[in-house]
Amino acid sequence: MRQRNKPWAKDKLAEYPQYVISEPEKYKGKWNEAFNKNQPLHIEIGTGKGRFITGMAKANPDINYIGIELAESVIVTALDRIIEEELPNVKLLNVNANDLQEHFDKGEVDRVYLNFSDPWPKKRHAKRRLTYRSFLEIYENILVDKGEIHFKTDNQGLFESSLMSFSEYGMLLTYVSLDLHNSDYEGNIMTEYEEKFSSKGNRIYRCEVQYR
Ligand code: SAM
Repeated sequence: MRQRNKPWAKDKLAEYPQYVISEPEKYKGKWNEAFNKNQPLHIEIGTGKGRFITGMAKANPDINYIGIELAESVIVTALDRIIEEELPNVKLLNVNANDLQEHFDKGEVDRVYLNFSDPWPKKRHAKRRLTYRSFLEIYENILVDKGEIHFKTDNQGLFESSLMSFSEYGMLLTYVSLDLHNSDYEGNIMTEYEEKFSSKGNRIYRCEVQYR
């Protein structure tokens, strides 16, 4: 995600505590209190500018969503979308995925979405991939039993290494498409990256995996 320096972003995030949760550890074990309705919780890690999470929140009012994004200068655009749409069922966390267990209890999250995660193609950087074993452990520790990860990317190398990582972790592959936009999958909501790379002719890979 292209990150422009936006020195005002931090202040803007702080101006909207109803959408951007500044001390997420306070909601650990009781995330439903942060929302109007007690309903399933899905999180997206590396939300970027928020096209996906806001589209999902609009399409699925019976699910609560949290977008997690490290970069202030990017998540501030996701905030703009939520303000504009006045969405009650989506919140944002400006935190690192490494720290998710500080913010969520075991079993609090019903599904994890990973969309166009940074590929980190060099072998020596493999541990930074959000589908690396250590991250799968973190997600398992906050998800419900048999919780799911839904993952899409245009990067073939990342997709292959992620399938290996899921398989080595013992996860069940329940859906796979090697060409999402030419498949019969319905209800796809595009991310910013997906729009950009598919318009250049890149194929989109998608899978759903489940913990056992
Ligand atoms: N999902 C968006 C999309 O498809 O348009 C953004 C994709 S962008 C390539 C990856 C995003 O993940 C970046 O905005 C980056 O800041 C975020 N990210 C990377 N590592 C992260 C981490 N450990 N915790 C939270 N966000 C992270």
